[in-house]
Amino acid sequence: MKPRIDIFIFADALGWALASRRRFAENLLPLRRRCETLLGYSSTCDPTILTGALPSAHRHFSFFIKATQPSPFAKLRHLACLPEIIAGHHRLRNQLSKFIASRHGYTGYFQLYSVPFSKLPYLDYSEKLDIYEPGGINGGQATIFERWEQSGKPWARSNWRLPDPENIAHARREIEKGDVELLYLFTARLDAVMHRHGVEHPAVEAAFEHFATQLQALADLASRHYRDVRLHLFSDHGMANVNTCSDLLPRWEKLGLKYGRDYVAVWDSTMARFWFPDEVSRRAATAWLSTQADGEILSDERLAGYGCLFPDRQYGELFYLLPSGSLFVPSFLNQRKVTAMHGYAPEHPDSAAAWLSNAETLPVAALTDIFPVMLAAAHA
Ligand SMILES: [Zn+2]
Repeated sequence: MKPRIDIFIFADALGWALASRRRFAENLLPLRRRCETLLGYSSTCDPTILTGALPSAHRHFSFFIKATQPSPFAKLRHLACLPEIIAGHHRLRNQLSKFIASRHGYTGYFQLYSVPFSKLPYLDYSEKLDIYEPGGINGGQATIFERWEQSGKPWARSNWRLPDPENIAHARREIEKGDVELLYLFTARLDAVMHRHGVEHPAVEAAFEHFATQLQALADLASRHYRDVRLHLFSDHGMANVNTCSDLLPRWEKLGLKYGRDYVAVWDSTMARFWFPDEVSRRAATAWLSTQADGEILSDERLAGYGCLFPDRQYGELFYLLPSGSLFVPSFLNQRKVTAMHGYAPEHPDSAAAWLSNAETLPVAALTDIFPVMLAAAHA
């Protein structure tokens, strides 16, 4: 029997409000903290979890950005004349996404989503490499896995491309072998089920219950192979039901500013980001957006406070954010309404992430605090 294992379990979208309301896995994981999230999406939060760095340092935020070099999507402008019903078809977009990823050697998560083909030639993609592999972080930071490797302690982690049952089965096999002392389990099913059904639905309750059962079984299994089983469950952000659809994008497009000439924009699900070639269009856009009741412009001070003021404005010069529970329909990410979403102001109670553990660790109050705990486990 080995002396100790630290099992770090990432659960996409297991928000603090959701976990607290359900008293999720309270017996198994009695040490519980609200964990402040970041502005943005998993694409912002996960690199912070893996490196401990803020977005402005690790340089990951959202997938699509304004191209500053020839766009990898330049050739797709020929597809702009496709009828919307074909251009928007998810199978076509999935196949195209795979083709583009392999042609450009992208090793990370790559998906064209619903970005219009006419806009893609102005855009680039920020997460070209697998952030879980060495060299995958834009800012050059080492991930926790490189640090674990350097520590000499045996470790293992999930493959984020695989569904939860396969990753949980892999974690169980590693525990049964009894070699690893550090384990990182990646799960994303709660996020998918809540996006589809909303945060309160029988399918969601069932998914939470099933997850709790699997965690208990994992802990039981580990206690048969290790004397000290330290279990840490954490998330990147929360989730909120969508109660308002914003048609700001079609209203914006009637304003008369021309995409590519007067501005470039990316419409994420809950946030629009703009770049301008000159002060005239910047002023016109700012004046119009500040009179729209849908959401709010984020000041540079606020972005800096979130750790999201990127010095070169790589992710946008002007950020417009919707309030919790609102969704752009359409956006570049989704054509239709989604039942629940995240990506709102990080200070909103529904945005907060969770840290749930059975062991005393360094204090965790924000996503940046998770990396030091994972690092300390390698040197315990
Ligand atoms: Zn999600």
